[in-house]
Amino acid sequence: MRTGGDAAGDTIAPAVRLLDAVLADAIRAEASDLHFEPDRGGLRIRMRVDGHLHDLASPPASLVPALLTRVRLLARADLAERRLPQDGRFTFAGPDGERVDVRAAFLPVARGEKIALRLLHHGGAAPTLGDIGMPLRERRRFEAALARSNGLVLVAGPTGSGKSTTLYAAIAALRGPTRSVVSVEDPVELDVEGVSQVPIDDDVGRSFSAVLRALLRQDPDVLMVGEIRDAESARIACRAALTGHLVLTSVHASDTREALLRLPEMGVADYLIDATLSLVIAQRLVRRLCIHCRVMTAWSGRTEARRFFERARVGFPEAMPAASGCSRCNGSGYRGRIGLFEIAGGEDDAPAPFSPGSLGAAGLVHVLGGRTTLEEVLAHCPWPGDECTAPFDESDEEGRA
Ligand SMILES: [Zn+2]
Repeated sequence: MRTGGDAAGDTIAPAVRLLDAVLADAIRAEASDLHFEPDRGGLRIRMRVDGHLHDLASPPASLVPALLTRVRLLARADLAERRLPQDGRFTFAGPDGERVDVRAAFLPVARGEKIALRLLHHGGAAPTLGDIGMPLRERRRFEAALARSNGLVLVAGPTGSGKSTTLYAAIAALRGPTRSVVSVEDPVELDVEGVSQVPIDDDVGRSFSAVLRALLRQDPDVLMVGEIRDAESARIACRAALTGHLVLTSVHASDTREALLRLPEMGVADYLIDATLSLVIAQRLVRRLCIHCRVMTAWSGRTEARRFFERARVGFPEAMPAASGCSRCNGSGYRGRIGLFEIAGGEDDAPAPFSPGSLGAAGLVHVLGGRTTLEEVLAHCPWPGDECTAPFDESDEEGRA
């Protein structure tokens, strides 16, 4: 006679296969995240590709409990505790044998639980400075700052703007037999050979500042600090940059102007900033139009968009590239992303003239080149200009927090 337990057992093997297939699909699509959320008695599964969520097929309702339990088992999360948020992690072998580290976050919601999986694609090679899409003139300034044996290079942008990729490209370019390169990160998103990378772990007291102090006793030449979030780390990083170390780090800021305000806000003395800060890079990622289906449309020139062009000092065109959608781009009209950069500082040894071009102007150049759309630029870039109070600024910031 069959029992309820056996009936549940019948769903385990299909649930395991289903989760494997979902993870393999996400890895193949180079998704950064997977979301599982309760939805009208079933489960909605979405993956984030190029910064945007896409629905995957919903699993049969009968498999949902076993599927969620499978994720919990893999992540070594407490199976009984479903009332409190939990974290976990596991490693998954991708379709090509690629090792992918998965960070899982479980959150109880009114209809059950929501699970977010962050996929860390370790297997890939570190990006080169040529890979990040920085225009040649900006790249020369970046390389000049990296060629120095000390100073602070700050990369700014919101979450998902490609800051870590830029930092990884920098340390990959700097590693070598004559330099000791170390990093503190949360988490380590990419293994870079030849670099000693330390993940922080607050549970055991391995905080950014504690690791930073320990790393400085390791006689490093180059120090990468994944992100400066607190006053103590900011001060240690600046002092290290003053005492013969090249320090690379990132801050959460909208543009170079805002990034320049972050350090004093965190209590770093002005003289320390003046003496150390050699370059500030602000960046964004906008989606690249799929070359197989992009179209040109006549542009009526909406007023606010016209003002954006004027502020960026870029002439507006008669026709605009637009997304269409085909089988090559899963119907989204976009494939991959393009980096936009704004650079301040770094001219010779003269007092740094912190007068940047703008992210908006960088984006519009790609619109004119037919590589992305005006919508993408307006959605991601702050308005060019000094004291503008633009209609997009605030909603833009909140949307990407
Ligand atoms: Zn397409």
